[in-house]
Amino acid sequence: MRKFFTLFVVLIILVSLFSQVRNIIYFIGDGMGLSQAYAVSMIEGRPLSFMKTPHGGFVKTHSANSWITDSAAAGTALASGFKTNNGMINILPDGTVVPTIFEIAKAYGVKTGIIVTCRVTHATPAAFYAHVKSRNEENEIARQLVESETVDLIMGGGWANFLPKNLGGKRNDGLNLIEMAKEKGYTYITTKEELMNLPGGTNKLLALFAPSHLDPASERKEEQPMLYEMVKKAIEILSNFDEPFILMVEGSQIDWEAHDNDIYGVWKEVLEFEKAVQVALDFALQRNDTLVIVTADHETGGLGLSSGDYKIDVDKIRKFTETIDWIMENYSPKNRESFKEAIEKYFGLTLSDTDIDRIASAENSKVEFGRVMGEKVNIGWTTTSHSGIPVPVYAFGPGAENFTGFLDNTDIPRIIMRLVGYSLQYPLVKEPVMK
Ligand SMILES: [Zn+2]
Repeated sequence: MRKFFTLFVVLIILVSLFSQVRNIIYFIGDGMGLSQAYAVSMIEGRPLSFMKTPHGGFVKTHSANSWITDSAAAGTALASGFKTNNGMINILPDGTVVPTIFEIAKAYGVKTGIIVTCRVTHATPAAFYAHVKSRNEENEIARQLVESETVDLIMGGGWANFLPKNLGGKRNDGLNLIEMAKEKGYTYITTKEELMNLPGGTNKLLALFAPSHLDPASERKEEQPMLYEMVKKAIEILSNFDEPFILMVEGSQIDWEAHDNDIYGVWKEVLEFEKAVQVALDFALQRNDTLVIVTADHETGGLGLSSGDYKIDVDKIRKFTETIDWIMENYSPKNRESFKEAIEKYFGLTLSDTDIDRIASAENSKVEFGRVMGEKVNIGWTTTSHSGIPVPVYAFGPGAENFTGFLDNTDIPRIIMRLVGYSLQYPLVKEPVMK
């Protein structure tokens, strides 16, 4: 009996030891609501990588001052566990500065990483390390990134915010943050080739592949890596150390394509994102200490998966081959015949003269074009900004069952911290509640 009991206790200890959360890979699809993800699943004719995770739920996204959040307030909620006003990053409406999950992780000796396809000083990545009243203060955000050393591994775009004007940058204060980062021990790289050749033992990395954002997924230049390539390399580097790691990966441009009401752009951006999630899931599957979370900061565009007649023409969407941005840069609806030909060539659709007039005379031709194309394939958009519909969360690995049900965006970092055992070093502030 005693033998059996001892065996039982040993087993329990072993199970709890092996199912502990050591590493966190936290994916945020900017603007990726359930509709964006599921539309891509329909187009591809298969479940997306993260849809196969065993646990999931819904996440409310409202900010402190609006039912419709922006990425700064949503990023703050997802990174620090607090609601703030739209536009603000890790500073509450009453001025209280709140710590981020990365800052707390650092205090525990955890390695931190950020991978995005926008400028690394954009709202979502900034929410993990910066504290500013306005997300537009990107030069200040860049300074905070380098000075704080909160993030060990940074990949994305936006070197112009790190350099003074005389070196081709955007800074008026003369600071050369790239040099400063190198002095602090960061390896600085700017091309995909350099990324692929990085030694495994790279301790700190600042990788900025473009002066501003990276190219859209469907038009990415050879010198710029794809998201999955960055995630692969980051996991390779971070898993080399004795310390655990927390890595945030953003599919930054899903949001922008949805702002344009561009279903093709959304398709390609969600695909790039889900491929990166697959890399993380493959890593997590080989071990039992890595929690992968996939969520969004908000929905963008109010995308509806049918505008009538019990149908959506996914076959037609599958024939699209260019983004609206690309078409509008290269063709003008004012030049009726060539525009019509281009739409036939790149979208497989025939526009009527009325359609073209509508696009040409619209205040925002780009969005009007997106709307017309939406009508042709039977999808609808309610807005060119964000919507208030809750977003999905998917989770895989130890502790994944905690990400189930109807959650608030502030719950996510709080659950993560509970799972990894960081004490909640939160200041006691009254949280704003939306009525
Ligand atoms: Zn947006």
